[in-house]
Amino acid sequence: MKIFVANWKMQLTLAQQIEYCEKHLEEIKAWKHKIILCPSFPALVTIGRRLHKTDVALGAQSCSDHPHGPYTGQVSASSLAQAGCSYVLVGHSEERALGVTDDVIAKKALRVLEAGLIPIVCIGETLEQKKHGATREVLEYQLQPIHEVVKKAPFYIAYEPVWAIGSGQTPTPKELEEILAWLKHTNPNAGLLYGGSVTPETIETLSQLPFLHGFLVGGASTDFQQFKKIVSLVA
Ligand code: PEP
Repeated sequence: MKIFVANWKMQLTLAQQIEYCEKHLEEIKAWKHKIILCPSFPALVTIGRRLHKTDVALGAQSCSDHPHGPYTGQVSASSLAQAGCSYVLVGHSEERALGVTDDVIAKKALRVLEAGLIPIVCIGETLEQKKHGATREVLEYQLQPIHEVVKKAPFYIAYEPVWAIGSGQTPTPKELEEILAWLKHTNPNAGLLYGGSVTPETIETLSQLPFLHGFLVGGASTDFQQFKKIVSLVA
């Protein structure tokens, strides 16, 4: 069984997210893989109620690095737990691009663990960094503060090369295999996910890779038929 995390980002309106669940949840529940839906904040409570007592899990796309307090616009991990979340994405490259640092991302992961939830820590290099042969160095740098807070707790690492996100491009199987083997070796308590242009066209090759527990799917997860196709192509 693989894990498929559907990161809807801000692609769907509140009404569209609820409609997606109303129309498709019964079918999703019957899938043989583990599905984690990550809607936007306003949809969490409603969708969380629908997912309650099903095997389909709820995830949030981010959280505050503070436990509570005067932080306008932020959402605490404990509120996300009360909304029904079991997982929280931290450090998505779109969050990092806004200037959120590795240390703040590690604090978010800590808040997630304190709330009894599981962090999915997103890491990945830019095209520029890849071209300079700096991929491992970048990933190490991104993970180091995470190791300090996560210690032996279980968590997920989503390896998402920034240049692969939404571009239709993916690393070669050889490149991915090397990175996944290294991540597995250096992060024995982490489950490994891959994200970046997971589509019906790329999933068959990606699903052959060793060490992978699953996939983080962005754009293609917002289209139910595409998402269904991706999930159905994995044994
Ligand atoms: C993402 O942004 O997390 C992602 C995986 O996007 P996409 O699948 O659209 O490349």
